[in-house]
Amino acid sequence: MHSPLSSFTIPLILLVQSYGVSAASWGYGYNDGPQTWKGDCQTGLRQTPIDIRTMDTDYALMDRVNFIGYDQVDEVTMQNNGHTVATAGFTEWKNPPYVSGGALQGKYFLQQFHLHWGKKDHEGSEHKIGGLSYPAELHLVHLKEGLTITEAMNKSDGLAVVGVFLNIAESGEPLAAMADKLDDVIYAGNETDIDRFRPRSLLPSVTDAFYRYEGSLTTPGCSEAVQWIVLAEPITITRKQLDQLRKIRNMEGEEHEKNFRPTFPLNGRRIRFRPAQYDRLRFCSSSYSLSFFITVLSTLLAKIIF
Ligand SMILES: [Zn+2]
Repeated sequence: MHSPLSSFTIPLILLVQSYGVSAASWGYGYNDGPQTWKGDCQTGLRQTPIDIRTMDTDYALMDRVNFIGYDQVDEVTMQNNGHTVATAGFTEWKNPPYVSGGALQGKYFLQQFHLHWGKKDHEGSEHKIGGLSYPAELHLVHLKEGLTITEAMNKSDGLAVVGVFLNIAESGEPLAAMADKLDDVIYAGNETDIDRFRPRSLLPSVTDAFYRYEGSLTTPGCSEAVQWIVLAEPITITRKQLDQLRKIRNMEGEEHEKNFRPTFPLNGRRIRFRPAQYDRLRFCSSSYSLSFFITVLSTLLAKIIF
């Protein structure tokens, strides 16, 4: 008698052997989804993602985020790791790209980027804005200068992740380089090189406005080591590219129903928001001119007195 199990058992064993039991032991399904993840994923108090609501957000004077070396073009490797499609190789570049500023202490070097998505357009992003989701979200993962990954996991600021929302539109420019190769990484374990990749293409034209808060990794073990920077401005993804993304398969060889984690409570955390230049003028003008006036006055007084 033909057993339907036999045809599935062999590839599954091969996958588990190749990529490790730990990699196969969590996912986004009923039996292995976020509700079953252990450790900090269950007990942590500064977990990610969150719903970014106005009432939890304060305007804050912070430096812009500097994206250094993001305009370079060089080779990267894209891999289907069974949970998402992750692109790495930036640390091998002549001038490895990094971020600084944005109220970060020091430099954080780009390790990899990956995406989260769902099957339907009304969900997919991990973060929400006022209860609403985008159809996908990009994460650029950066490691603090001088730390190993293990060391970084044990520090409250070991990692800086830049989150970028994706909006469905006509322009496929931001994801064009990787979309060309997505069909090569349909199955877990598939890997492909992208010869000419420019990280800047993944950023919106305006990166001045962003949300900033202290959170965690959104996959097991959910380490509370991440300084989050969520850009307010989305980038675009075409309908065709989103369909390509939705064909990516998980450890079980099935298309991801979704690979985003639900949102978590802030537990007393506040979100800082840096508005773009235009907004800053509009919202901060009265307090800004007052502080400017006080600075000028105190400088003059100091000159008169001393
Ligand atoms: Zn992520």
